[in-house]
Amino acid sequence: MDWCCGGKGGFGLVPLLCAPPRFAAREALFPLREWVVRPDFVVGIRLLSTDCWCAAKLGPPGVAVRSFLYSHSMSLSLRFLGTAASRPTVERNVAALALMREGETLLFDCGEGTQRQMMRYHVSFALADVFFTHFHADHVIGIIGLMRTMALQGRTDVLRLWGPRGATRVLRRAEQFGFDRLSFPVEIAELDPDQALRRNGYDLIPFGVDHRGSASLGYALVEQTRKGRFNPELAREMGIPEGPLWGQIHRGNAVSLPDGRRIEPSVLVGPTRPGRRVVITGDTRPCAATTEMARNADLLVHEATFGEEEAARAAETGHSTAREAASVARDADVRRLVLTHFSARYSRDASELEREAREVFANVLVARDGTEIDVPYAERICVEC
Ligand SMILES: [Zn+2]
Ligand SMILES: [Zn+2]
Repeated sequence: MDWCCGGKGGFGLVPLLCAPPRFAAREALFPLREWVVRPDFVVGIRLLSTDCWCAAKLGPPGVAVRSFLYSHSMSLSLRFLGTAASRPTVERNVAALALMREGETLLFDCGEGTQRQMMRYHVSFALADVFFTHFHADHVIGIIGLMRTMALQGRTDVLRLWGPRGATRVLRRAEQFGFDRLSFPVEIAELDPDQALRRNGYDLIPFGVDHRGSASLGYALVEQTRKGRFNPELAREMGIPEGPLWGQIHRGNAVSLPDGRRIEPSVLVGPTRPGRRVVITGDTRPCAATTEMARNADLLVHEATFGEEEAARAAETGHSTAREAASVARDADVRRLVLTHFSARYSRDASELEREAREVFANVLVARDGTEIDVPYAERICVEC
């Protein structure tokens, strides 16, 4: 979900106003884990007790006009902000992709006009990180305008820009462009392939791709392993008092009960569960590094600049055809493939690319500007809210 800003903890009046009746009936006041507000008066509330999200569209006085949308904890989604290669067209803007996880927004590439696409598709300007795959102009020029607008908005928080070798030279120039100084610090970091960044709940792993010999990177977001499922019915059956003891057991600690029994966590907690894996290639030929990084991924976002009729041109220019991208997805055994970065000739109608890809890999989608993709857990089970 594309939230603008967030807070943590506390009790909220807002959810009382906007909560759907089922929530309202169940609890008088909602202990909140997090809350988020978007500029268009949407408020989202994550309930501590249910671990679910509720969102509602509010009128200006804070009164619900419409409430909707439940989402399970650990939301993860992508919003395509630009899906054209090289230059914008009427239908498509140049490369940029927002990834939203748990209220945090990461931007991948920032082609010309990205800030306007962010406004159009409700992507937060309160993001802290922009990751660049490489520094061809269609992936980077938009950062100049985005940073200017952030300064006009009075931003003071640091903005971190990440990219392959050469990032410092290019991005410092972008920071210093124009007469005005920015109101916030900009940190620039150069990443080498496989130099994983440990983040809160996930690792972000850059990997080297094959794009005209440049130091281009793809990125994999790999969530850390989650705790196993706690079995509350069994815990109750065994007479283990609900409360802190449950938490201790769930965290993997053996506990001693007042009656002398010792409970090992393995009795009540299932096996650990893998997190999700999302892989974004940036511009590239089909390559082994992508196949390896995308092995069993939940989502692969692969460029597909050309159709088969232009396979030779794809090879010449360091790009992929839709069929080649689909072959990578098939070889890596990913769950879903999304294609992006299309040559202008496919801007209006990319059905040819979709058809060619589908012959190789069935679960494929051709992104448009504004396409939003949710990435559920593989074992996702609908929780009754
Ligand atoms: Zn490009
Ligand atoms: Zn490029």
